[in-house]
Amino acid sequence: MTSPPLQPPFPRMSTAPLFDTPVSALRRALDTKEVSSVELATLFLDRIETLDPALNAFITVDRERTLAEARAADERIAQNHIGPLTGIPLAHKDVFCTEGMLTTCASRMLSNFVSPYDAHVVALLKKAGAVSLGKTNMDEFAMGSSSETSHYGPVRNPWETGHVPGGSSGGSAAAVAARLAPIATGTDTGGSVRQPASFCGVTGIKPTYGLVSRYGLIAYASSLDQGGAFGASAEDCALLLAAMTGFDARDSTSLERAPEDYAAALAAPPADAGKPLAGLVIGLPREFFGDGMSVDIRTAVDAALAQYRALGASTRDIDLPNAKLAIPAYYVIAMAEASSNLSRFDGVRYGHRAADYTDLADMYRKSRGEGFGAEVQRRILVGAYVLSHGYYDAYYLQAQKLRRLIAGDFRRAFGGCDLIAGPTSPVTAWALGAMSGDPVQMYLADIYTTPVNLAGLPGLSHPCGFDGGGLPIGLQLIGDYFSETKLLAAAHRFQQATDWHLRRPALAA
Ligand code: GLN
Repeated sequence: MTSPPLQPPFPRMSTAPLFDTPVSALRRALDTKEVSSVELATLFLDRIETLDPALNAFITVDRERTLAEARAADERIAQNHIGPLTGIPLAHKDVFCTEGMLTTCASRMLSNFVSPYDAHVVALLKKAGAVSLGKTNMDEFAMGSSSETSHYGPVRNPWETGHVPGGSSGGSAAAVAARLAPIATGTDTGGSVRQPASFCGVTGIKPTYGLVSRYGLIAYASSLDQGGAFGASAEDCALLLAAMTGFDARDSTSLERAPEDYAAALAAPPADAGKPLAGLVIGLPREFFGDGMSVDIRTAVDAALAQYRALGASTRDIDLPNAKLAIPAYYVIAMAEASSNLSRFDGVRYGHRAADYTDLADMYRKSRGEGFGAEVQRRILVGAYVLSHGYYDAYYLQAQKLRRLIAGDFRRAFGGCDLIAGPTSPVTAWALGAMSGDPVQMYLADIYTTPVNLAGLPGLSHPCGFDGGGLPIGLQLIGDYFSETKLLAAAHRFQQATDWHLRRPALAA
C-alpha cells in the first residue's frame, strides 16, 4: 500500500510568489541563501514604489536606509549570527519613534519631527534583525477607525480603493494586505489593529495590556494603548509578536514575564490531528450576535464557527451584559487621556510652531490650532470637558466604573470558556468619506473591539469571508489575560484548514 503524498508544510511557497511567502519560509530561504535580505528588501521596496501611489499606505520610505539595514542583515547571516527575524522586511506604524527618521503620527504637528531615539518595540525588532521598509500611514494620533484623518491623506483599501482600510493602523493593514510588507507593527487602543485587519483581510493581534512596551509609542490613551502585530497569517503574527514583547523598565505598565515562543507553540503537533481543537470551549456573547450586524457578516461568522466546531472546539452562549456600554465608557476615557497626553505638543521644544504670533499664549493657540486636525481637536475638547470640575464625577468617574463592570463580565465569562468569538466589526469597509460627517456613527462601529481594551485583554482578528461587494470580513477571538498562545494557535488551526487568509486583492497580483 502506498501512503498518500505528503502535503508541503507551506503550500504558498510552491505556488505563490516570493512577496506572498510566509515569514517562516522566508527565514529558511534566507538561511539557505536562496535569497538575500537585499533581494527581499528590493522586492518589497519596488512593490511599494509601484503599488503604493494607489494606496497611500506609507508616509516615509527611505530606500537607502532600508538597503543598508538589509546589507547588514546579510552580513550577519553570512556569519551565522541569525536572530528570528534577521533579514526579514517589515513596516512600522508611524506612531513608533524611529531614531534619525521622521515620526509624524500622521499629524501636521509632528510633520518635521525626527526622533532622537527608537521606541522599545523598534529597538527590539532591530535587535531581532528585522529590516524596516518604512513608516505606515494612519489616523492622526491614532484617533479614528478609517485612516482618513491623516495629514498625508487617506489610506485606501487594497480590495477596493474607493473604500477605507479601517483604522487607525490602516496603513500597516493595507501594506500587509497588498503584500507591500510581509509583516507590520500597529497599535490598538480601541481596535486599531483588529478592525483594520478585518477590513483588509489580514490577521492582526493585540496582546494583553502591558506585554508590549509603550516607550517611544506616541501616546493617545495610555491606559488603553498597546502595540500589536499584523501578518497574512496567525503564524506570521506569532513570529512578529514574539519579537516585540519583553519587559521594559521605561514603561511603568510593562509586565515582567518570561518570553513565550508563540511560533514554536503553533508548530507543536496536536494530540488529535483530526480534531486539533478538541476540548477548546468558545464562548459566543449574545450581545455580539444581536441586531446591527450585516447579514453577510453574520453568515461568514457562523460559517467560521462551524469550522471551529469541525476542528473539535465546542461553542456555548455566554453573556457580557455591560459590553453594550463600552462605546461611551471607552470614548470618555480615551478622550480624557488624549487631552492630557496631547498637552505636550505646544510648539516649544519640537513639532509645528506657528509662523506669526503676538505672545506666548497666542503661539500655543496658533501652533495647536494649525498643527492638529479637526478630529484631534474635537477629542482634546471633549476630553478636557469630561475631566473638568463639575463634570468629572458625571462622566469620567462613571466611565471608570463601567470599565470595571466590563472587565468583570469578561472575568466571569472566562470561568466557563477558553476563548470568546464574534465579528470584529458590525460592518465591512465603508466608502471613503461615508462616515466623515458623523463621527459618532464611526465611534459606534467600534462596539466589538473597545470592550477588550477596557479590560486589557488580548484579541485577534482573522479573515473569515467576504461580503457581497468582495470586501473582507474578520472574526474576532478574545482571550483571557496572557492567552496569546491559545489565541494564535486557535487561529492557526483554523487557517491550516481554510484559505481565507491566502486570498489577496487583485491589485496585489
Ligand atoms: N477607533 C478607536 C478610536 O478612534 C480606536 C483607535 C485606536 O485603537 N487607536 O479611538
